[in-house]
Amino acid sequence: MRTSAIVVGGGIVGVCNALALRQAGHQVTLIDRKQPGRETSYGNAGVLSESSIMVLNNPNMLRALPKLLLGKSLGLRYSPAFVLKNLGWFLKFLSYCTPSRTRAAAFALRALQLASLAQHKKWIAEAGAGHLLRRAGWVKAFRTQASFAKYGAEMALMDEVGVSYSVYDKEQIRQMEPGLKPVYSKAVVMDDTCGVSSPSALTDAYVALFKAAGGTVLRGDVSALSAAQDGWQVCFGEDVLHAENVVIAAGPWSAEVAAWLGYRIPMAWERGYHLHLQPGDGPQLGRAICDMDGGYAMVPTLHGVRITSGVEIAERDASPNHDQIIKSVASARDVHDMKDVIDDEPWMGRRPTLVDSLPMIDAAPRHGGLWFNFGHQHLGLSMAPGSALSIVAMIEGKEPPFDVNPFSATRFPI
Ligand SMILES: Cc1cc2nc3c(=O)[nH]c(=O)nc-3n(C[C@H](O)[C@H](O)[C@H](O)COP(=O)(O)OP(=O)(O)OC[C@H]3O[C@@H](n4cnc5c(N)ncnc54)[C@H](O)[C@@H]3O)c2cc1C
Repeated sequence: MRTSAIVVGGGIVGVCNALALRQAGHQVTLIDRKQPGRETSYGNAGVLSESSIMVLNNPNMLRALPKLLLGKSLGLRYSPAFVLKNLGWFLKFLSYCTPSRTRAAAFALRALQLASLAQHKKWIAEAGAGHLLRRAGWVKAFRTQASFAKYGAEMALMDEVGVSYSVYDKEQIRQMEPGLKPVYSKAVVMDDTCGVSSPSALTDAYVALFKAAGGTVLRGDVSALSAAQDGWQVCFGEDVLHAENVVIAAGPWSAEVAAWLGYRIPMAWERGYHLHLQPGDGPQLGRAICDMDGGYAMVPTLHGVRITSGVEIAERDASPNHDQIIKSVASARDVHDMKDVIDDEPWMGRRPTLVDSLPMIDAAPRHGGLWFNFGHQHLGLSMAPGSALSIVAMIEGKEPPFDVNPFSATRFPI
């Protein structure tokens, strides 16, 4: 069964969805108001993870809540006005901080991430983008034994779901990353997690693969969706397009787009920032390092050393607040030798997060031919291919490649 499909949103999630549909033989148009991959998918840390199985709203978050509420964590900031305005969302978000929900989420995320990493590797080879792939992907580094001890619960969960990792001591860290100053007492190296040296170059490579396979990319603002005879009408600019299927993959704007059809998606935004710095003269980093005490990452990229901040929970379109990234860069300078800041100002992206920290990958409950693929929080780059393969299977009436029930659209009253 070959159909026509329009994918709304050309971030990594939409691009992967368009590519998977096209490779399965469907007629596909991908629409974005910008060049694909220039919003949230542009500025991330480039980690292709199969090990990020602990959601943010886990039992540790409840324990850390007093510190978080006092704004004492560099890794997590929030706008009190936004939290008060969305108090129901936050109380629900915190209600997921139980061991059983965290464990269930871990198994769900692991299956999605494994399928995704396998597909990334295939597409990277097909796209001739092997030069972007880094096999040593992700290290979590701890400054104190006390912060490492707090990580025990996550390691226990990684053991349970089958993540392979190695614990390094100070000397092993020095040998692995001689460019790091000796500030870390322990590190957890994710053995199988990969990374890319430029998320935007990866998206561009996938877009090129999609076009070469006969897919169409259009630039414009989608302003309305409506059910029509035999499918959907999609208004963008002055044009109206028709297709049997529409996939909403508009990242942080997905709740807004779904709301046009009456859906109330429980989405908030975990904003994050980056700055690039010129590499120093000493040894360069070989992989992405997450400073677990500071909540930021240091990533060697084609664009310079990219420092990515932790989380800022705030209104999607509120003015940026650069305090967190500026402090993260100052802290990173204590750890790794870097020269001047390259960018004129920090980049900001918005991680789209649903109230249970799991994406929504499913048919829309009240509209035939409408599909939801969004809410990938901190892991959209990692989880886009598996999400795409699942939507293709659902459109074709086949069994998805792993259990997609945890990602269903009907798990909330939307
Ligand atoms: C600092 C930071 C670090 C991160 N690090 C990692 C990491 O290392 N690994 C990882 O897996 N993930 C990481 N993430 C998360 C990841 O970047 C996101 O989960 C992912 O980019 C979301 O992709 P998306 O396609 O859903 O959204 P987006 O990339 O935001 O794409 C949505 C697209 O929809 C388009 N759009 C929206 N509305 C419309 C409309 N009406 N008409 C036309 N187009 C529209 C937008 O222009 C946009 O291009 C990080 C995020 C941040 C902020």
